[in-house]
Amino acid sequence: LLLLGIETTCDETAAAVVRRRADGSGTILSNIVRSQTSDHAPYGGVVPEIASRAHVEVIDTIIEQALRSSAVKLVELDGIAAAAGPGLIGGVIVGLTTAKAIALAARKPLIAVNHLEAHALTARLTDAVPFPFLLLLVSGGHTQLVAVTGVGEYVKLGGTIDDAIGEAFDKTAKMLGLPYPGGPAVEAAARTGDALRFALPRPLYGRPTPDFSLSGLKTAVRLEALKIAPLADQDVADLCASFQAAVVDLLADRVRCALRLMREHGLAPHALVLAGGVGANQAVRRTLHKVAADGGTRLAVPPPELCTDNGAMIAWAGAERLALGLTDDLATSPRARWPLEEVAGVDWAD
Ligand code: ATP
Ligand code: MG
Ligand code: FE
Repeated sequence: LLLLGIETTCDETAAAVVRRRADGSGTILSNIVRSQTSDHAPYGGVVPEIASRAHVEVIDTIIEQALRSSAVKLVELDGIAAAAGPGLIGGVIVGLTTAKAIALAARKPLIAVNHLEAHALTARLTDAVPFPFLLLLVSGGHTQLVAVTGVGEYVKLGGTIDDAIGEAFDKTAKMLGLPYPGGPAVEAAARTGDALRFALPRPLYGRPTPDFSLSGLKTAVRLEALKIAPLADQDVADLCASFQAAVVDLLADRVRCALRLMREHGLAPHALVLAGGVGANQAVRRTLHKVAADGGTRLAVPPPELCTDNGAMIAWAGAERLALGLTDDLATSPRARWPLEEVAGVDWAD
């Protein structure tokens, strides 16, 4: 199956062409991402109206580039996939409407992909992970632990009750005067910092359900920063290192809890799949690698460029759905909110 995938839910305009073979393996033929980071950087976060306008301006050339560099012609495609949510609605409309127009004109099936499902399934493109697996989705907008038992079969085990982890990285960076996006900046600063200098809280550590809370940790960073202001470079580095260590500890504890829960429900996970932008963090990867091994499974994590938003993950999720006969009609609505558990799968009772 050959799929075109379109992603516009946040601040990346992206398109890709991906092949999925009958044996379940996949190849990325092209993957074009145009990040709007510099458009939003002056505001310290994504501005929805700027985002939708920027998507409109470049979407056609991005799709053209994706097709050209894949050397696949429109007529050769088996389907057109687009992220139909969740995300900033203006952006979602741009991508989904463009996909509908192409699908209609080229007489190809449309696959309306849930952006979170795309993050969830990406490890199967790069790493052939069988079901079931435990998904840790940690991005700018989401923090969830999900038992994945099949395409369209997602059981949420836990999530954040306040901020997402990527958001906590971004806010911490802003507080400490580091550039946006905060994740890479905090990680870089942490490298020369002393993680033991500040004793920061680990909210919900040890709780029997794998939920997260980040706001107390964020506040603790602010209070420590206020105490020692004005901040020297070394203070910033030490705060970043202490913050990152707390996040890593939390992730390790919550993942151990989720692995235990899955086993209690008779599901032996083939992998711990790490997805979303925070998955690019080396300290997070190193620790979860060990947590997975200690928990009798392994860590599967896509390369960093497939952890953050991209078109290949949408094309791949579209291919996984199309392989099961799951397509959508042109009346499909864009959705700002679309929890993973509400994604439809195959109705095996039929
Ligand atoms: P969502 O996928 O939930 O809609 P999003 O598009 O903002 O949200 P991604 O693009 O997957 O999410 O990831 C961006 C987030 O990942 C940002 O919050 C960013 O700070 C964080 N991030 C990126 N690199 C790193 C890193 N090296 N360490 C920690 N966090 C990181
Ligand atoms: Mg993004
Ligand atoms: Fe994302």
